[in-house]
Amino acid sequence: MNKKILIRYGEIFLKGRNRKYFINLLFENIKKALKQFKGDLKIIQGRFIFENYNAEDEKLITKILTKIAGIFSISHAYCISTDFENIKKTALSICDNSGTFRIQTKRADKTFNISSMEVSSKVGAFVLNNNENLKVDLFKPDFTVYIEIREDGNTYLYKDEIYGIKGMPVGSAGKGLLMLSGGIDSPVAGYMMLRRGMTIDAIHFHSYPYTSEMAKEKVVDLAKKLTVYGGCINLYVVPFTDIQLQIHEKCDSTHLVTIMRRFMIRIAEKIARNVNAGAIITGESLGQVASQTLQGIISTDDAVNLPVFRPLIAFDKTDIMDIARNIDTYDISILPYEDCCTIFLPENPVIKPKLDNVKKMEEALDIDLLVDTAVENTELIKL
Ligand code: ATP
Ligand code: MG
Repeated sequence: MNKKILIRYGEIFLKGRNRKYFINLLFENIKKALKQFKGDLKIIQGRFIFENYNAEDEKLITKILTKIAGIFSISHAYCISTDFENIKKTALSICDNSGTFRIQTKRADKTFNISSMEVSSKVGAFVLNNNENLKVDLFKPDFTVYIEIREDGNTYLYKDEIYGIKGMPVGSAGKGLLMLSGGIDSPVAGYMMLRRGMTIDAIHFHSYPYTSEMAKEKVVDLAKKLTVYGGCINLYVVPFTDIQLQIHEKCDSTHLVTIMRRFMIRIAEKIARNVNAGAIITGESLGQVASQTLQGIISTDDAVNLPVFRPLIAFDKTDIMDIARNIDTYDISILPYEDCCTIFLPENPVIKPKLDNVKKMEEALDIDLLVDTAVENTELIKL
């Protein structure tokens, strides 16, 4: 029997006149992601279909599809030409051998003159008559056979609905520059924005030799994991040691983190503008650490003139960890290499930094020179 993959989009449905733009973009993203496989991708009314693929590729294709932003769910369907006898026989053939079931029918083709309800009950009766190990349970069945009678003369029958990551197609929401540390949060933040349709580049600050080559490799590995969702990522690796040493030397240690974060965001803005990114993304979560208080965030935002997206701002750490496990970054993130934020860390960082104080301390530093030098010495790693 002819098996096809039905691919449904979610939120795109809510779009009005520009829905076509989003559908075409998602179509191209799927095509790109599946280019290594034999098969044809088609747009039909309200969804996509992938057909003529090799059966042995099905599992891997399925896995890839469930990681493409914009896909709501997929089903593996048997496709037959619409004919009631054929529908009954096919439904019977795809049923499990025992257990409880129900039939659910959608009839888009109104020229087919049996109503959805009637199709379900007649097919159900046919199945019952032909397999005495099966029973109907309309409320909590072991499995459901879905029947979709479509306008193109085909009927699709399937039992599964596998959910995708939903969201909007990557490429539909501009570009963001992700501040990627080696921690748990920032890769999750990147994933969340990819899911909303943003294309992503990443920036990482490292403090060689205080942080090791391994710490950098870890970030490369994390960025690679994100390419699964968003295609190529340019990773900008910024040398940060000089700036940290100067802050350490010239500023009060209680404000080191605040001033350091202001430098990070200034450099991120400069690189973002150079690469046409319209926003900066961070993995901050309100109250998680001393620098992520409202006052801490105010003092960071004061140093930047681009929107800063913080998708995890209201997330609980345990929920962030769950997402990290789902996107397969958790095990890399917990590897014990130090981040540049953890060196020279004061024992008593200020929790509510006052902007006036911060700015006064910064007067001891040549901000423009430090930022420009860091940007000039930035290394680009293409992933
Ligand atoms: P994460 O788990 O993402 O490291 P965190 O809880 O350790 O976050 P911080 O160290 O305060 O929090 O960092 C807050 C955010 O600042 C990070 O989520 C990340 O976006 C950014 N950041 C921190 N360190 C770096 C770094 N070395 N390079 C790039 N961005 C960084
Ligand atoms: Mg961190």
